Amino acid sequence: MQIHKHEVVIIGAGGAGLMAALYASRGGADVAVVSKLYPTRSHTGAALGGIGAALGNLEEDKPIWHAFDTVKGGDYLADQDAALILAENAVDAIVELEHMGLPFDRTPDGRISQRRFGGHTSNFGEKPVRRACHAADRTGHMILQTLYQQCIKNNVNFFDEYHVVDVLMNGDACVGAVAIQLSTGEYHVFHAKAVLFATGGWGRVWQITSNAHSLTGDGAAVVFRRGIPMEDMEFYQFHPTGLYGLGVLLTEGIRGEGGILLNRNGERFMEKYAPKIKDLASRDVVSRSIYLEVRDGRGINGRNYVHLDIRPQTVNRYLAEAGETRRIDDDYIRKNLAETLDVCRTYIGVDPLTEPIPIQPTAHYSMGGIPTNIDAEVIRDAAGTVVRGLYAAGEVACVSVHGANRLGTNSLVDLVVFGRRGGMKMAEFVKTAEFLPLPNNPTEQIQAEFERLRKSNGKTRVHELRTRMQKVMMDHVSVFRTEEGMNTAIAELKELRHLYMTDICIDDRGTKYNTDLMEAWELGCLLDMAESTALSAVNRKESRGAHSREDYKARDDVNWLVHTLIHRNTDDPYDANPTYTIDTNRKVNMSLADVDERFVPKERVY
Ligand SMILES: Cc1cc2nc3c(=O)[nH]c(=O)nc-3n(C[C@H](O)[C@H](O)[C@H](O)COP(=O)(O)OP(=O)(O)OC[C@H]3O[C@@H](n4cnc5c(N)ncnc54)[C@H](O)[C@@H]3O)c2cc1C
Repeated sequence: MQIHKHEVVIIGAGGAGLMAALYASRGGADVAVVSKLYPTRSHTGAALGGIGAALGNLEEDKPIWHAFDTVKGGDYLADQDAALILAENAVDAIVELEHMGLPFDRTPDGRISQRRFGGHTSNFGEKPVRRACHAADRTGHMILQTLYQQCIKNNVNFFDEYHVVDVLMNGDACVGAVAIQLSTGEYHVFHAKAVLFATGGWGRVWQITSNAHSLTGDGAAVVFRRGIPMEDMEFYQFHPTGLYGLGVLLTEGIRGEGGILLNRNGERFMEKYAPKIKDLASRDVVSRSIYLEVRDGRGINGRNYVHLDIRPQTVNRYLAEAGETRRIDDDYIRKNLAETLDVCRTYIGVDPLTEPIPIQPTAHYSMGGIPTNIDAEVIRDAAGTVVRGLYAAGEVACVSVHGANRLGTNSLVDLVVFGRRGGMKMAEFVKTAEFLPLPNNPTEQIQAEFERLRKSNGKTRVHELRTRMQKVMMDHVSVFRTEEGMNTAIAELKELRHLYMTDICIDDRGTKYNTDLMEAWELGCLLDMAESTALSAVNRKESRGAHSREDYKARDDVNWLVHTLIHRNTDDPYDANPTYTIDTNRKVNMSLADVDERFVPKERVY
């Protein structure tokens, strides 16, 4: 076992982790970043469409309108203080990224170009506005490369391909983390004054997902097992446009450029569900509409998918009908949606310039996660009690800025805004804080768990359990939900956990690059995420944002303008049969509604 000592340890090297690392190092802290992937392979690099900020480069825009869209898009569950910070800080953050060298696309007069995206409007919902800043459809890739370069320049220490498997606590304070070095199988203890989790999401809980294989909820799970609750887990976003059968994401930017959704009769069905903003309605609405079309037999060829059409002749026809003067052609698409063309041609052999693209909703983004305040400090209860030394940012965290449903482009904003705030807060904290002692035998418990997995010789393969989990979550805890379906899922998950603890087997018993073993461990994390999602979902007896119940169809603002906090009732991180408590005493922050009636919850009109 090796011990490393750094004032700040950041787990995860996606946009959130790198932004936090950059700011903590600029604030003078000694910073290490520990990542199971090589940094530039993080999922942030897959983000296509853009990053939203009210720069107003092409038409008038204001942060307060961005905050409004965020709150409304989040179906009023977003904390309004956080939404305002997000919208206001976004403007600075984008300018700063530009100054760091991020190659944004430009307007003819040299300013950062912006495009439309679902749910982005001007003047409190009046009409669509161009707010998404982009670097072609490779925005996330460019953010990641830019931030990584800056971190290297700032002497941040990187531990690449180190898999964090436990967080170390001293009483109520966080003092470090344990990682396994993939190439050797050795245990490394990171002793820190401040630890920030930026480990991203857990889309791999579901069968059809846009998320990379690595997105297994590890960071959230290890923190959850050490007594920190998870917030708003029931809110998981399904993006409407995943490639049929694969789930690979097609950016909302396609619809932003004029692409439209068609059913088997060639009808533009979004006109029916969202007469005002149609195909650019928020993601929950579009995903549900696709699901309903399919359910009523209007999927293409009677199957469970519809078409996304970006062929210039189709787009131009609808643009003309809408009275717009703009027209597009093949070259325009080649330039602005290069990745999209590539993905469709490579994965399913469809050329979007000549054919419509088959799509279905895909598990995409977790609105919930590790609860934090607006400075990325982790909180442990409804009262907002801060856990000393523990921070979280990015998709793994729940600030909560996305409420019940995230707007497109707001995740990248969240990473840079709250990653930065977390980095600054940690730099300030470590100036006066001491290193608290590590627990005795810091790796004892986690080593025992890994030995159990390594030596397991039951009958059930890891991938069988994973497939069963993904199927039951897709069938019962996805776009539409019922009490009965969710209870079926909960019972199945219990059974899967039992098998996981008593009957699995793995093939590779070695130490070096043992991905077999790591995958077995990741499945345990996925099960934690699946179970906390299903339990939080069955507890919330209303429909709001991405949480849509057929047995409670209405949004209930009287009883449910509250966040869910789910706690494990056990100190044993590897309890085979954990029970949970759900606390709904954390009220949504309504600071804008208190001064402006436009922020008071209203029924959404599409
Ligand atoms: C295909 C796709 C397209 C998207 N497009 C957009 C978009 O256009 N606009 C937008 O706003 N959002 C978009 N999103 C969402 C957004 O990209 C993600 O929410 C965001 O990038 C998450 O960033 P992150 O920094 O939180 O984590 P990630 O970028 O996912 O990085 C996670 C990091 O944690 C590390 N890690 C994980 N587990 C461990 C462990 N156990 N030990 C050590 N390290 C660990 C990984 O190595 C990685 O470095 C998209 C998402 C997807 C999947």
